[in-house]
Amino acid sequence: MPGPSIVWFRDDLRLADNPALRAALDRDEPVIGLYVLDDESPGVRPLGGAARWWLHHSLASLGERLRERGGTLVLRRGPADRVVRETVTDAAAGAVFWNRRYGGPERDIDAGLKAALRDDGVDVASFAASLLFEPWTVKTGAGTPFSVYSPFWRACQALPSPRDPLPEPREVPGPRRAAASDALDDWSLLPTAPDWAAGLRDAWEPGEPAARRRLREFLRDDLASYDRARDEPAAGATSLLSPRLRWGEVSPHTVWHETVAAGNGGRFLSELGWREFAWHILYHHPDLATRNLRPEFDAFPWPRLKPSALEAWQHGRTGVALVDAGMKELWRTGYMHNRVRMVAASFLIKNLLIDWRRGEEWFWDTLVDADGANNAFNWQWVAGSGADAAPYFRIFNPELQAKKFDPDGLYVREWAPEHLSGDAPAPIVDLGETRRAALDAYEHVKRAARR
Ligand code: FAD
Repeated sequence: MPGPSIVWFRDDLRLADNPALRAALDRDEPVIGLYVLDDESPGVRPLGGAARWWLHHSLASLGERLRERGGTLVLRRGPADRVVRETVTDAAAGAVFWNRRYGGPERDIDAGLKAALRDDGVDVASFAASLLFEPWTVKTGAGTPFSVYSPFWRACQALPSPRDPLPEPREVPGPRRAAASDALDDWSLLPTAPDWAAGLRDAWEPGEPAARRRLREFLRDDLASYDRARDEPAAGATSLLSPRLRWGEVSPHTVWHETVAAGNGGRFLSELGWREFAWHILYHHPDLATRNLRPEFDAFPWPRLKPSALEAWQHGRTGVALVDAGMKELWRTGYMHNRVRMVAASFLIKNLLIDWRRGEEWFWDTLVDADGANNAFNWQWVAGSGADAAPYFRIFNPELQAKKFDPDGLYVREWAPEHLSGDAPAPIVDLGETRRAALDAYEHVKRAARR
């Protein structure tokens, strides 16, 4: 059918290596970029506050880059199935293209739309762009999904290498008649009362150009020391690409190929492998954020929630230095170093005996890289209830972790200096006692599993 092509942008806010955009350009009709803010479709989890902040700036950047190339970005709000169809009608579009999503409700929406649009005679195609390996293509010898990381990643590597990234288009010709669009500011994605985003503004520059710059800098300056220093939160040795990958400002294919070209990036690439694995697990377990992957954990005897303990954790007032530093880094910047995420999560679950889902929700709201798979997957990993998870009885001791990974206290000095000047609150729990209580609770889970 003739008529403009719509590129429905979702978690792929970029022009380079964007197969949906490439397909639209190949059709030789005007291109309309579309982004739908969907807080309404059943099952789709509304974005958290920090994610909304990032989204605002990333959309502003994408819109500007499309306009520079002659194109346009239409913003609309509402349930995606309705809004996309309305946009197709309004623009008399002949085709709609998108890059795939892998969450359960999102897949249902996309499948329904694909069928409905095709019935209306509209061309529709979806593409692989956000993962290196489509989740259903990686299978065990028995043809089943993986539940352990190492064989999963080995199987990925035995598949054909990820395709080469597509070049960035120089022109994106838009329609003659502008399609109606919401104003980005009217979406109120930025916090105002109060404006808590000053730390985010200091820490980040969302958008595709900054993402590409960061990748280049990381490969040039940090890749060589990554294996050695990646666990030290004060070393600044990791890529800080997580929000960029989350929002698709840079594709995993670009990261993969540029890393391979830079050489010696096996350990770093295997971290991208964890991202692939988390999405593989989510694809096969869409309720990963709410349900224990290992059902025996349903019997975990969580004590009644003490809101004051949860709040102390959220705001970095537990009296435990590394945990408080991490939670303050998170609150200020929307990010926390991976080692500290593990320690802070372990402390919540195993020292405060608070259900991992409360932690997952807080991270969902405060992380700029919060994503449907990685967040829930990692929380379940720490809890011991997940795929290939750390065994529950392995309880991080936050003091030993600090000695090992922040021996000079540089990270604690940066984010929670009160711990070095003696002004910090006393620890809200005794690490040894709570550790024993957590192990007792775990015995209960083990007994339930045997019954
Ligand atoms: P690098 O070390 O440079 O790694 C490169 C990339 O690999 C990352 O950008 C990320 O995409 C991927 N990656 C690295 N580690 C992991 C991992 N353990 N699992 C999955 N992918 C990984 N990561 C998110 O992207 N979103 C989340 O919501 C998220 N929540 C987490 C919650 C908890 C409790 C824990 C323990 C970890 C969580 N992670 C999450 C994983 C990890 O902490 C971050 O991906 C990492 O800290 C991002 O920093 P980086 O980009 O500098 O990482």
